[in-house]
Amino acid sequence: MSGYTPGEQPRDSSMVKLNTNESPYPPSPRVAEAVQAVLADGRLRRYPDRRGTVFRQCAAGLLDVDPDALLLGNGSDDILTIVTRAFVPEGGLVVAPMPTYPLYRILADIQGARFEPIRYAADWSLPDPFPVSDAHLTLVANPNSPSGTSLGVEALARLAECVEGPLLIDEAYADFAAANALALARRPNVIVTRSLSKSYGLAGARFGFAVTQPELVRELEKVKDSFNCDSLSLVAAAAAFEDQEHLRITRARVLRTRERMWHDLTELGFDVTPSQANFLWCRRSDRPARAIYEELRVRQILVRYMTYEGYGDGLRITVGTDEQVDLLVTALRQIV
Ligand SMILES: *Cc1c(COP(=O)(O)O)cnc(C)c1O
Repeated sequence: MSGYTPGEQPRDSSMVKLNTNESPYPPSPRVAEAVQAVLADGRLRRYPDRRGTVFRQCAAGLLDVDPDALLLGNGSDDILTIVTRAFVPEGGLVVAPMPTYPLYRILADIQGARFEPIRYAADWSLPDPFPVSDAHLTLVANPNSPSGTSLGVEALARLAECVEGPLLIDEAYADFAAANALALARRPNVIVTRSLSKSYGLAGARFGFAVTQPELVRELEKVKDSFNCDSLSLVAAAAAFEDQEHLRITRARVLRTRERMWHDLTELGFDVTPSQANFLWCRRSDRPARAIYEELRVRQILVRYMTYEGYGDGLRITVGTDEQVDLLVTALRQIV
C-alpha cells in the first residue's frame, strides 16, 4: 500500500507557508501558561490523566454535551483511526464522497478494507439518494477539503438516515463555517469530530476529539492507545478551548482575509470555490496547477498541489495573514 503523504513541513521558517491549513496566528496566551505549569510541577513524571478530565469538562460545558459523549484523541486523525479500527473489518467497506481528505482511503487500506469513492456533484452537493448504504463506515468532511464547501445539516441528516453503518462527520474546519452538524451527534449512528489544529492554532500539540453516543465512546475507547493524549497537549487543549474570545478574534481575522483573498484570486483569473474553511480551492484551465505550484515554491511560497483520480487537480491555498496574502498575490500576478 502507499502511505499518506502530508503537506510538506519545511525547516526553513522564512517560507510563506500556505499548504497545510495551520493558523497564521498563535494560540491563546493561556496555552503557554498552562504548559509551563505542567513543566514546573513535575507532572511529566506521571502518565497523563486517561480521562482528560479538565478538557472533557470544559468542552462538554461549552458544547452543551454529556462529558461521556466525548472521545479524546491525539489529533482528530487519531479519532479517525480509532473509529476505522473499531467498525471496519478486514474486507469491509469504507465510503466517502470524493474529492476529499486523502487519509480516508489510506485508513481503509490499513484495515484491508475496500474504499469506494462517491463523486460529489459539480456544485459539491451529495448525490441524492446516496448510492451506497451498506458501508461499515461512511466519512464526510464538512467543510470538505479541498473544496472548502459545506453540506447543509438537512443533507447530512438525510445521509445519516440512509446509511446503515456509522456516519463520521469530520468537522476539522467547522469553526470557520457559518453552520455545523454537531446537533446530529445525538443520533445513534453519527460521530462528529473536531480538531484543535486549525482554528485554535495547535497543530503541533496534536489534539482532537469526537462527539457521539456515550455507549459508543465506551466501545471506541477499547481500541485506542491507553494514553493517546499526553499531559502537555491535554492542558494546552483545555486552555485554548476555554479562551473562546481568542478563537472569536482569530476566526474573524481569518474570515476577513478569506473574503479579500477570494476576490484577489478570482480577479487573477482563478476559478475559486467559495469557502467555509480557512483555505481556498483554486483552479484554472489556461495553465497547469502543478507549474504554478512550482513557480510559487521557487519564490518561497508553499501552497498545496492536489490531484484526484478522475477529477483533476488544483491548488489548495491556506488563508494566511494579510501580509502573506499580499506576497502570494504579488507572486501570482507575475506568474500568470
Ligand atoms: C487537518 C485535518 C484533519 C486532521 O486534524 P488533526 O486534528 O491535526 O489530526 C482531519 N480532517 C481534515 C479534513 C483535515 O483537513
